[in-house]
Amino acid sequence: MDKLFPKLQKLTQNLWWTWKPEVRTIFRDLDLELYHKAHQNPMSVLKQISTEELEQRAADVDVPARVDRALRQLHEYLTSVTTWGLTHAGAMRSRPIAYFCMEFGIHESLPIYSGGLGILAGDHLKAASDLGIPLVGVGLLYHEGYTSQVLDASLWQQDVVEPFDIADLPLVHTVDRHGEPVYVSVELPGRTVYAAVLEVQVGRIRLILLDTRVKRNDPRDVAIAARLYGGDQRMRMEQELLLGVGGARALRALGITASVFHLNEGHSAFALLERARYRIQMDGMDPHKALQEVAAATVFTTHTPVDAGHDRFPANLAAEHLRPLAEGLKLPLDEVMGLGRVNPHDHGSPFLPTVLALKLSRRANGVSALHGVVSRHMWNHLYPGLREEAVPIGHVTNGVHLPTWLATEMNHLYEAHLGVAYPSALTRPDTWMKIMSVSPAEIWETKQVLKARTIRFLREHCAITRTRLGLPEIDPPPLDPDALTIGFARRFVPYKRPDLLFTDLARLDRLVNHPERPVNLVFSGRAHPADNTGKALIQKVVQIIDHPRFRHRIVFIENYNIRVGRMLYQGIDAWLNTPQRPLEACGTSGMKVVLNGGLHISVRDGWWAEAYDGENGFAIGTGETHVDQAIQDRRDAEELFRVLEEEVIPLYYENRNAAGVPRCWVGRVKHSIRTLAWRFNADRMVQDYVRHLYVPAATSSSCQMPPD
Ligand SMILES: *Cc1c(COP(=O)(O)O)cnc(C)c1O
Repeated sequence: MDKLFPKLQKLTQNLWWTWKPEVRTIFRDLDLELYHKAHQNPMSVLKQISTEELEQRAADVDVPARVDRALRQLHEYLTSVTTWGLTHAGAMRSRPIAYFCMEFGIHESLPIYSGGLGILAGDHLKAASDLGIPLVGVGLLYHEGYTSQVLDASLWQQDVVEPFDIADLPLVHTVDRHGEPVYVSVELPGRTVYAAVLEVQVGRIRLILLDTRVKRNDPRDVAIAARLYGGDQRMRMEQELLLGVGGARALRALGITASVFHLNEGHSAFALLERARYRIQMDGMDPHKALQEVAAATVFTTHTPVDAGHDRFPANLAAEHLRPLAEGLKLPLDEVMGLGRVNPHDHGSPFLPTVLALKLSRRANGVSALHGVVSRHMWNHLYPGLREEAVPIGHVTNGVHLPTWLATEMNHLYEAHLGVAYPSALTRPDTWMKIMSVSPAEIWETKQVLKARTIRFLREHCAITRTRLGLPEIDPPPLDPDALTIGFARRFVPYKRPDLLFTDLARLDRLVNHPERPVNLVFSGRAHPADNTGKALIQKVVQIIDHPRFRHRIVFIENYNIRVGRMLYQGIDAWLNTPQRPLEACGTSGMKVVLNGGLHISVRDGWWAEAYDGENGFAIGTGETHVDQAIQDRRDAEELFRVLEEEVIPLYYENRNAAGVPRCWVGRVKHSIRTLAWRFNADRMVQDYVRHLYVPAATSSSCQMPPD
C-alpha cells in the first residue's frame, strides 16, 4: 500500500490519462463524489482523499493491479519506437514542429480553453502524441481559469470566476542546462514583462505554457495572462506579444530548435517577427532575407470566415507595441506595420495579426474544403494580380481525437468487430468497413446504454439549475428516455442560429409532443462574456422552453464544456447544426457524435459540405444561399422542420423489428460510421499536416536555417 500512492501520483503526471478511460475510472472508483467535485481531476482527488479511505477503497476495487497495468501501458506508450511519425516525420526528429495556439482544450481540469479552437488544438497534440510526431505545443497559462456560465433569475448568463488551484495540475517549472528555472521576458511599451516557462506532458508531447505570475512583474503585467480573451484591445495585444515573442524565446531558452512554426490561428503571429529578429541580430542576416526564410518555415492555419472575428489593432496601439521588434529587425517601424496591413501604404489603417501571418507564411490553410474556398475569396485582395483560385491558401479539414471523445462501450464494440488494434489504423477505410457486418441490435443496445446515462446526467443538471433558480421540480422528470433525442450545443451567436426551431412555436409543439413519435431536444452553449446579443439569444431560448408545453421535452444545460459535451456526443441520437452558410469554418462536434453512433443533421457548411453523401446523415437545404439573409433564414427554418418531420423522425420510429430495433436508422448509423470515421479523425488531420505542410516546410527551410 505504501507504494500505491506514489504510483497513483505518477499516473497523474502525464495528461495521457485524459484519453484513457480505464485510467480515469481508477480515480473515479476511489471516490465518486470527490471525483466529480474535483472536476474529474485525478491530482486533486489524490490530494483530498484520506489515507484510510484510499486503502479501503483501493482494496475494494482492485486499484493496485489496475494501476500497475496502467503504468506499464504508459511506459510502453512513451517508449514505443514503431510509430507512424518515425517513418513519416523523420525530417523533424531533432527539430520539432512548434505548434502555437492561444488556447488548448485537453481536459476540463486544465482551464486554458474556451471553445472549438482550443479543443482542436488539444486534439492535435493528442493525435501528434499517438502518431509519434515531433511537436511541441506553446501557449499561455491563464491563472484565473474559467468563468462558468450561471443563469440568474432573469435567465441572463452570469460569468462566474471559478477558482482553481494551480497546484492541482501536473505543471512543472522547466529548468535549463544548468538546472536553473527558465524565464523569458518581452519588451512592452515602457517596461519589460516576465514569464515563467512551465510545461505539462501530453503523452509524448511537451506543452509549454507561459505564466506571468512572477515577482518581478508589476501587478498589471501579471494580469496579462490572467484570463483567456480577457481585457481590452491593449491587453489583447500584449497577450499576443507574450504568446508569440515570449513563446519563441521560451523554445530557445529550453534548447528546442524548431523546424517549423505552425500558428494555429493568427493570435501568435508575432512569433514570426521574433524568429526573424533573432536571425538578424545573431547571424547578421539581411532583414528581408530573414523574413523570407521565416516564411518558408511557417504553416499558418486560419479558422475565421467571419470578418469581424479577426483581431484589428488600432495603428497607434500596434505601433507603440511593435517598436522594439522593429528595431531588432533593423526595419523602419512603418515597414513592420505594413506587414500587418492589407495595404501597407495605408498609414493609419489597423494592424491585423492574420494579415501578418498570411504575409509571413509560405503555407496557409483553412480548416475544411469549403472554408479553403471562402478564405481564398476573403483574402484575395492581399494578393493583387492573383485570381481567386490561385490565392495560396489550401485546406486541411479538421478531425477529432477518437480516444478522447469515444464512449467506453463504443470502444468495446469497435474492438470486438474492427479488431483490438483498430486505433492504430483509424485512417484506413477498410478498418471501418467491418462495421457493416455488426448486428443492428448490438449497435442499438450499446447506444441505449449510453443514452440512458446521458439522460440521467441531463436530468440531474436541469434539476440543479431549477433548484438554484427557485423553480419547481419538473414532474415527471424532463426528457422521455424512449424518444428520439436531438442535441444542439455550441457558442450562442446569431450566425449559428440556435433559435431556428423557435421561429414556429406551434409547429415545434406538434413536433416534440407528438403522441407516438415524441422528440427530446437538448440545448447547451455559452455566450462570450462581453456578448450581450449572444446572452439575449440564450435568454430567449430558455424562456421559451420553460413554457409548460415544452419543459418536459426541451432542456437547456448550463455551462457547456468538455464534460457536458462528452456526455451529449455519446448519448444523443442526432446532432443539429444550423449555421448561416458559409460561416461555419469546419465544426467538429458532429464528428464526435458520428463516432458514438449518432447521426448528423446539418446545413451543408463546414465539414458537412464535403462529408454528406446523401445517406450518411441529413442535410438541411441544398447549399445555395439567398443574398437576403432574412429570406435564407426562413427557408432554412422551413427546410429544417421538413427534414425532421419527413426524414429524421420517420427513420427513427419506423421499420422496427420485434425487438424494437429501428433497422433503417441503425443502417444509416452504420453507413455514417463507415464513410466518415476514417476521414474526420485527428490522426488523419495530423497526417495531412505532416505530409502536405510540415515536411515540405521543414525540408524547404531547415537545410539552410542553422539552429536558433
Ligand atoms: C468539439 C467541441 C467544440 C467545437 O465544436 P463545434 O462543432 O466547432 O462547435 C466546442 N466545445 C466543446 C466543449 C467541444 O467538445
